[in-house]
Amino acid sequence: MISDVLTKRPRHYNAGDYIMHQGDVGEYAYFIEEGQVEIVLQKQDGSSQIIGTRGPGTIIGEMAIIDNEPRTASVRATNTCKVLEISREDFHRRLSGSDAVLQTIMQVILTRYRDTLARIDTISEKRGFPSPEEIEREYVLEHNAVESIKIANEFKEALENGDLRLHYQPIIDLSTNDITGFEALMRWEHPDRGFVSPGVFIPIAEDTGLIVSASTWALNEACRALKRIENSTGWKDCLGMSVNFSSTDFASDDFVDNVYNTLSTTDVAAHQLTLEITERILMQQPENANKTLEMCRKAGMKIAIDDFGTGYSSLSYLHSFPIDILKIDRSFVVDMMKKESSLELVRSIIGLGQNLKMSIVAEGVEKKEEADTLKFLGCERAQGYYFAKPLPEEEIIALLKSWDNTKT
Ligand code: C2E
Ligand code: CA
Ligand code: CA
Repeated sequence: MISDVLTKRPRHYNAGDYIMHQGDVGEYAYFIEEGQVEIVLQKQDGSSQIIGTRGPGTIIGEMAIIDNEPRTASVRATNTCKVLEISREDFHRRLSGSDAVLQTIMQVILTRYRDTLARIDTISEKRGFPSPEEIEREYVLEHNAVESIKIANEFKEALENGDLRLHYQPIIDLSTNDITGFEALMRWEHPDRGFVSPGVFIPIAEDTGLIVSASTWALNEACRALKRIENSTGWKDCLGMSVNFSSTDFASDDFVDNVYNTLSTTDVAAHQLTLEITERILMQQPENANKTLEMCRKAGMKIAIDDFGTGYSSLSYLHSFPIDILKIDRSFVVDMMKKESSLELVRSIIGLGQNLKMSIVAEGVEKKEEADTLKFLGCERAQGYYFAKPLPEEEIIALLKSWDNTKT
């Protein structure tokens, strides 16, 4: 606890009291132990604007102990606050007494911080005082950089300790209402943070290269689960498994070998596996991707383009790569019932698939009307909350056992 090491007497503020003033040179940062504050920016025209709030566990005014510049905003208590002071001397004394790793990391963060301040200066020279949004955005970026390092370390641990899970979302044949297979989606239940969205940890895993071992794990686990599901339900050889891959996976030399090995050790037939990739991979590393995909296709696996329609608009790549499936992005399905242009787009993608002999899967189907419209337009398969959410293996087994294709 930070309050255990900051031994000075806490300072108390009442609602409306200013803890610091814009333009003053400050000697202290403050750790907020109780209460809430608002950050107020005084503009050149004399008006002021609240650009953010901070509550217990956060620090305000930290720039002062990093350099000698005037405060860039004022901070005012919005209710009764208890804060602990951290002086510049105290901060530097603690830093010089810490171990080499902490010192180096702090050095990197401080350098970035100074760089951010310098950039804000440049912006203000060019265009007058920075807008509140600019200051807030810089703060968020800085905050995110530190947060990302933390998440990356914790994700690595989760991967090593076996704390990641997969959920499986059924993919439905719209003409028969049968479950044709599943998409494996990674789940991370963090002991303190709770459920962390893949939208947060996947990009971080991609940036740090951790995605390669995460994907290896996911492929292996998805194939094993498929076998267990088949054995428990008797649905044999008719179910497929789709696994998501990132560009970093594709860049690795042993990608294809790994996939082959997993298929043979888990005894899953190649035709049951679909590799989901995005258009970005094909654009970023066309030669490598083509070679890799050709090998996978020759072995009998299927290739799906995920989030189709959201990435690069050039369609010429569709001819050059061995693609089997286009997955219509959820955003088009959502808009399709409201906007004629989205409906036309979905119709065109389905037509494109039919002409190029590719199969179409629509994502994010939440309503019956959406499923009916897609079926009417000739879309073969769909997935979405309307049919089933991504579910853990036991629930998938129960769902298959009770699945009644006349009901959906
Ligand atoms: P995605 O591949 O496009 O996966 C579909 C996402 O849509 C999933 O989000 C799924 O839970 C969500 N979804 C499905 N049906 C509905 C619906 O009806 N309504 C709504 N609102 N959402 C629906 P999720 O699980 O949060 O995953 C987000 C993204 O994270 C995935 O998007 C994928 O890009 C990435 N991801 C997840 N697991 C993996 C993985 O194992 N490897 C890689 N490389 N990426 C993964
Ligand atoms: Ca996907
Ligand atoms: Ca998708």
